[in-house]
Amino acid sequence: MGEEAGSSLRSIPAVQTVLRAMGEVDDVPGVWRQEAVRDVLESLRKRVRAGSPVPPLEVLVDSARARSRELHRPHLRPVINATGVMIHTNLGRAPLPEAMMGHLAEVSTQYSTLEYRLEDGVRGSRHEHVEGLAAELAGAEAAMVVNNNAAAVLLALSAMAAGKEVVVSRGELVEIGGSFRIPEVMALSGARLVEVGATNKTHLYDYERAIGDETGLLLKVHQSNFRQIGFVDSVERAELCTLGRSRGIPVMEDLGSGVLLSVDLDGYHEPRVQDVVASGIDIVTFSGDKLLGGPQAGIIAGRREWIQRMKKHPLARAVRVDKMTLAVLESVLRWYREGRGAELPLWQMIHMPPENIRQRAERLTVELARRCPGLALDIEPDWSEIGGGSLPGTRIETYVIAISLGESQVTVLERALRQAPTAVIARVNRGKLMVDLRTVFRAQEDLLLETLAGAVHSIDAGKGKEGQS
Ligand SMILES: *Cc1c(COP(=O)(O)O)cnc(C)c1O
Repeated sequence: MGEEAGSSLRSIPAVQTVLRAMGEVDDVPGVWRQEAVRDVLESLRKRVRAGSPVPPLEVLVDSARARSRELHRPHLRPVINATGVMIHTNLGRAPLPEAMMGHLAEVSTQYSTLEYRLEDGVRGSRHEHVEGLAAELAGAEAAMVVNNNAAAVLLALSAMAAGKEVVVSRGELVEIGGSFRIPEVMALSGARLVEVGATNKTHLYDYERAIGDETGLLLKVHQSNFRQIGFVDSVERAELCTLGRSRGIPVMEDLGSGVLLSVDLDGYHEPRVQDVVASGIDIVTFSGDKLLGGPQAGIIAGRREWIQRMKKHPLARAVRVDKMTLAVLESVLRWYREGRGAELPLWQMIHMPPENIRQRAERLTVELARRCPGLALDIEPDWSEIGGGSLPGTRIETYVIAISLGESQVTVLERALRQAPTAVIARVNRGKLMVDLRTVFRAQEDLLLETLAGAVHSIDAGKGKEGQS
């Protein structure tokens, strides 16, 4: 370190000095103001060591104020999803209806009937709130709900097949994401994986030959997040169920994205939970926050004896669902029972006509052009995606607002949008920023407009500064 940097380091003000100069910052508690000052001085020290000068106190105070406001904000916060990916796993998957929040607040801020039977004043089970509804909707004898579908698969395998063999097609040894892979979950459950068939083709005789004294389960895993095309074949679930029945072995299917409404999008078809159950499967598992459009949860439906066994399994406690989830899931399942499933935000997005999106894009484009004269704006046909490993490759027609800025400026814009007070997440494609309004709520449009205009102006200001130096 040079002498100069050493003397500059000594001229960095003390924490208390900056804190005093900062004073109150809105309603930001002291703990965040202190941490903000320490953060600002820490990063200043690094810059000074690298040769930067120490800025005036007011500049440090401004930075510390901004930092303290940032520290005071919740880390988990809303964003505007302009990607057009509807079940965006990184952005919280399915958005829930506002209309359900009142009930959620009521049962979570007050005591509730979570595990209490009002009829006889004795302990009840948290399963009772939704199992009837879930079973009815799935057309199954029984159902239970756990923390998520990964937990549902683990619990089902543990309760049905620990210490036994589970036969799975090599074409279905799926990785769902992160470290959740069928072979690993199988190992964790204590069941032994028996792989049959080839990656592209599995025949009924493959399963037949693999069945022995040790076989505890035939497992089917829905290829929910990928698609095989070409020389491929798999065994129909009804055939597998017939085989299981004839040998006295249960058949389970991990459906991933369980869907209760008919979907026929872009030529792709997703089997409905009730159709899968009707085909004779013993147990199905699926997610609450994929195509169901509800909260994070894992739903298990099927034969009563197996569900009973799962409820009594020690893992059930470890993967049990919390009361807030139950409150919302019950509301979601009620909507399905009342024939209102399509009113869920996810389904409204899926069914939003492209023409409707184009009109909204036009209104926003006119307004944005007014606020940012000279900005290259177009409305282009494009595709929205379901996402969340559901219906992969399914594209839904949409229109996007395309902001053309060139490769380097568009990344600056994308970053500015992410760092805005309410972040806007958008796609970048060949030097253009694409804004798909399919996943933007109407109530967010004004804020989106403001944020877009603000980010564009901040880039223009940045360019101005570059020009000056
Ligand atoms: C998504 C998925 C899971 C995991 O579900 P979560 O609800 O995310 O835990 C398991 N299996 C399949 C086939 C899936 O698509």
